[in-house]
Amino acid sequence: MAARESIAELTKRAGRVSHALAKLYPTARISLDFETPWQCLAATILSAQSTDAGVNRVTPRLFKEYPDARAMAAADPRHVEELIVKTGFFRQKTRSLMGAAKKIVEDYGGEVPSEMEALVKISGVGRKTANVILGHVFGKPGFVVDTHVRRLTYRLGFTKNVDPAKIEIDMQKILTPKEWTPFSMRLILHGRQICIARKPQCEICAMANECPRIGVGKPSRKAAPSSKSGSPSTRGRGRG
Ligand code: SF4
Repeated sequence: MAARESIAELTKRAGRVSHALAKLYPTARISLDFETPWQCLAATILSAQSTDAGVNRVTPRLFKEYPDARAMAAADPRHVEELIVKTGFFRQKTRSLMGAAKKIVEDYGGEVPSEMEALVKISGVGRKTANVILGHVFGKPGFVVDTHVRRLTYRLGFTKNVDPAKIEIDMQKILTPKEWTPFSMRLILHGRQICIARKPQCEICAMANECPRIGVGKPSRKAAPSSKSGSPSTRGRGRG
């Protein structure tokens, strides 16, 4: 690949990487269990600093007792804390869940909005969670940037940015909208399984011929992600 690629060249290479990722990871969706937009939002909030499997263990009862935003808005916070305690950071997550529910009831008639601008105004919802919801619930393009996507888009030479919003813009320039959600979901899986933060397994990576391996073998960038563990979804602290 050229030392400094044009947008057209980056677009072509991103297409080849997208193809390789699709072969490796045919199922490109988060592994959180949900049936409604509210449940997707709630599960994604709970997934911060927790595994999807751990979230999936608590949500059946949570969703049974509080099936929608109206029910959650009127919940007893101590009971919500009890139900989600095993996902960690349960007090903050309870505040986020109930704050989100109240905002949705008061401003959106109890229905989760389907626009980025509205979603990021909800408690506990950042661009990452909003993009998960857009892509998985509303069928709208959403490029999800978590710690793995930040690391892999940099190593693959698709961006020089570390700010998730700027990475989103860089990737949107070289991918078609329909690829945004599946490409980012597949990068998360690849970051967990192969392109690990501290020890990327380039020797067995299907992307090896397409990857300039930017920064691999060098000390981590100050702002670059370097988590020890992976997540198939959107794990991260705070607003996601
Ligand atoms: S070749 Fe190495 S750095 Fe590039 S995506 Fe694969 S594992 Fe990551």
